[in-house]
Amino acid sequence: MEEIEELRSMVASLRRHLEWRERAGISLLPGAQLRDPEVKEETQASLLSGLEGGLFSDYDAAYRARSLEELQAAIGDCRRCKLWPGRTHVVFGVGNPRAKIMFVGEAPGRDEDAQGEPFVGRAGQLLTDIITKGMGLRRNDVYIANVIKCRPPDNRDPEPDEVESCEPFLKKQIELIKPRVIVALGKFAVQTLLRTKVPISRLRGVWHDYYGIKLMPTLHPAYLLRNPGDKKLVWEDIKKVLKELRDASA
Ligand code: URA
Repeated sequence: MEEIEELRSMVASLRRHLEWRERAGISLLPGAQLRDPEVKEETQASLLSGLEGGLFSDYDAAYRARSLEELQAAIGDCRRCKLWPGRTHVVFGVGNPRAKIMFVGEAPGRDEDAQGEPFVGRAGQLLTDIITKGMGLRRNDVYIANVIKCRPPDNRDPEPDEVESCEPFLKKQIELIKPRVIVALGKFAVQTLLRTKVPISRLRGVWHDYYGIKLMPTLHPAYLLRNPGDKKLVWEDIKKVLKELRDASA
């Protein structure tokens, strides 16, 4: 059963990659490097294809946003899903709008909801340590966001209708930031972005394709707080990310 899911995930990843190549007009053999920034632009626009909406769509202004500020304004005091009555803040995201690396988590917890910033609680402190002590970067060199922008009650897993409402905003953030690498944190973010049910233990540590962007799944910092012995696995994944960033700028 797991093998079938894994195969499905690989096929989905391959399909996204081939669709991206087709849209980008690439007919070169795999392995050839594409360096045309214009093509990249077009590629990333495809993240949102199908979500264009119409003149009266709730998503139209978000779709057309030209900056993170415009996107945040378009999201506004969001009431597009059932999470809004329980939240204090819409937790949009934080960091460098031109970051090369983007971390994507699940949804805000209590501290994030109170402060309006992702990853500021205990798990957030660990993520900050990974970024600063592990990667030698500052927190505001990277960009940090979640799949879901409002806190689910009692930190339950986000539900499919909530993902459907909120994920377009994450996709738009990715389109605007154009990171070289996405690090997806934990089972929920990884499985949601890759559209798979394959266990995180099988997905982590391996590069995946996300609309032409390299995506590295790794374990969630909250999981690491409960299982500190697995920190070495995350460090292995992060080393691959650092190597990719080094190679890309060489
Ligand atoms: N966990 C997440 O996935 N995101 C946060 O912002 C905080 C905790």
